[in-house]
Amino acid sequence: MVAPFIAGNWKMNKTIRDAVDFANQLKSLYTGLDEREVVIAPPFTALYPVAEALKESGIRLSAQNLSDKTEGAYTGEVSAMMLVDAGCEYVIIGHSERRALFSERDAVINSKISMALVSGLKPIFCIGETLNEREELQTFNIIERQIKEGLNNLNTDDIRRLVIAYEPVWAIGTGKTAIPEQAQEVHAFIRQLIEKMYNENVARDIAVIYGGSVNPKNIGDLMAEPDINGALVGGASLDVESFIKIIRF
Ligand code: PEP
Repeated sequence: MVAPFIAGNWKMNKTIRDAVDFANQLKSLYTGLDEREVVIAPPFTALYPVAEALKESGIRLSAQNLSDKTEGAYTGEVSAMMLVDAGCEYVIIGHSERRALFSERDAVINSKISMALVSGLKPIFCIGETLNEREELQTFNIIERQIKEGLNNLNTDDIRRLVIAYEPVWAIGTGKTAIPEQAQEVHAFIRQLIEKMYNENVARDIAVIYGGSVNPKNIGDLMAEPDINGALVGGASLDVESFIKIIRF
């Protein structure tokens, strides 16, 4: 059984004070949920103060991006070691906003995943098709390409430290959630592909989470699907009351 994995991606929202207030409130509401993996991904500026606020809470910290370079003259970039130093355990890689707005391609996503893994961070690896690709019946081809290229050269031990987030681009921030059966179909495909590329045990144990307009109302039906192990939540993770309802689905 894969433990339910719920992550909140705050994107470019919240000042340090707002982020720490949220972390303190979440900590006080987060009781009796030890069997769940709960992660929040604040913006870079709030990572360290939130790490301090979350100490000994069991709630994990994630960054939203990292550089694929180790260190040096890369103005504006943040390295994996800096994220570890700030208290991160996870890092989101390949989010559709990074792919679409910052031209991140599969090859750079693959380097970022490798960099995260060698640095001791666990990648939350995002994949998903656009509406156009879905309408052209390309969903499975796109998912297969993103997985094969994103995970190029990674071995079984690497994969065991990774979470895969299936986020159909047409469902992100749009209020349109994939119906549970639509999401399940793609999650099952992802698991079969991981089994072909690695083995049955890895495919069984890997967390494959869903993202795209998840909210307190739809989380229960999504989590009832056999291959959906959790959620990556954007908008609904910004409000602590709605995020805790999702965590407690
Ligand atoms: C996301 O950005 O990963 C996301 C799923 O956003 P939202 O929940 O707002 O659709």
